Amino acid sequence: MSRRTEQQTAEQTLVSRSPLGRPLAVVADRISPSGLSRLEEVFDVDASVSRDRDDLYRRCAEANALIIRSATRVDDSLIAESGCLTVIGRAGVGLDNVDLAAAHRAGITVVNTPDANSVSAAEHAMALLLAVARRIPQARQSMQDGRWDRTAFVGVELSGKTLAILGLGRVGRLVAERANAFGMRIVGYDPYLPETTAVPAYIRRVDSVRAATAAADFVTVHMPLTTETRNLIDTATISKMPHGVRIVNAARGGIVNEGALLAALETGRCAGAGLDVFVEEPVTDRRLVDHPLVVATPHIGASTSDAQDRAGLQVADAVISAFSARLESIA
Ligand code: NAD
Repeated sequence: MSRRTEQQTAEQTLVSRSPLGRPLAVVADRISPSGLSRLEEVFDVDASVSRDRDDLYRRCAEANALIIRSATRVDDSLIAESGCLTVIGRAGVGLDNVDLAAAHRAGITVVNTPDANSVSAAEHAMALLLAVARRIPQARQSMQDGRWDRTAFVGVELSGKTLAILGLGRVGRLVAERANAFGMRIVGYDPYLPETTAVPAYIRRVDSVRAATAAADFVTVHMPLTTETRNLIDTATISKMPHGVRIVNAARGGIVNEGALLAALETGRCAGAGLDVFVEEPVTDRRLVDHPLVVATPHIGASTSDAQDRAGLQVADAVISAFSARLESIA
């Protein structure tokens, strides 16, 4: 029989544990030391990371809070067995590893840190733009191969060029801010941006992908992968872009159709691409990664110590405040 009965609310389980001492937080995936220290201000913290599922069940049985990243799956059976659980904190954005419906039914609050890695992702997109414009990895490789080949690496400036930003959410707007500082002209497309979101005047907003990319020297995508955005950049879209366009995808693999991009690189319609994300990860079809006009990185857009520190601290703060709110609500 599960520890959490249908009638048992999170408040009841919270009360049942609280008199025993400090509440317990299980940290199932690695988070930053700063985040752990913050949690320790309020919780007893069990941060022994283990991939053993039975071990996780055992540790969560008494936990009031569970902190995860992408590796730990929180399904309905784990929730049912975690009788005291009040808050699940995800250090990062995606919640696809959490059964949100089961958490909701059990009265568990789920919190995440949607903007902890936005700056890192935006800086990575800028790094790819610059690397593609100047072919920096290729030039470095040629030097490592013993050459001194200056003529092979005549690049282009970002300044004065038009950048199409598709998706003006957290990352897209940070990219715009940085590209503006580089003197780029910025055209933005995002049909779903809430009216209340302030968009700086240096972004010229248009109402279609085609209008955004028609005069673009560079195109960068910053949207989720959905049925609508899958293959958003395909052969037809690329064929309407100027000859020699450079394309960056540091959002999600599949928004830019890989076959279409490869073909455009082969014909010269596309002069370069910067890719951090792929349809299949890890990559097995290496044709794009190995292409001389491609700068590829292994999905490291969010991988900075700063983003990890921020995610750890933000998730700890969010868990503490959700937990405190629940305590207050039953006081
Ligand atoms: P966000 O939710 O803040 O913004 C996404 C924007 O895309 C929203 O404004 C939304 O209106 C817009 N959008 C949705 N459908 C669209 C469409 N069909 N056309 C144009 N715009 C559309 O997300 P974010 O935090 O800015 O992240 C953007 C992307 O970057 C996401 O896919 C995210 O997963 C990815 N990301 C990747 C890394 C990495 O490691 N490479 C790191 C962080 C974020």
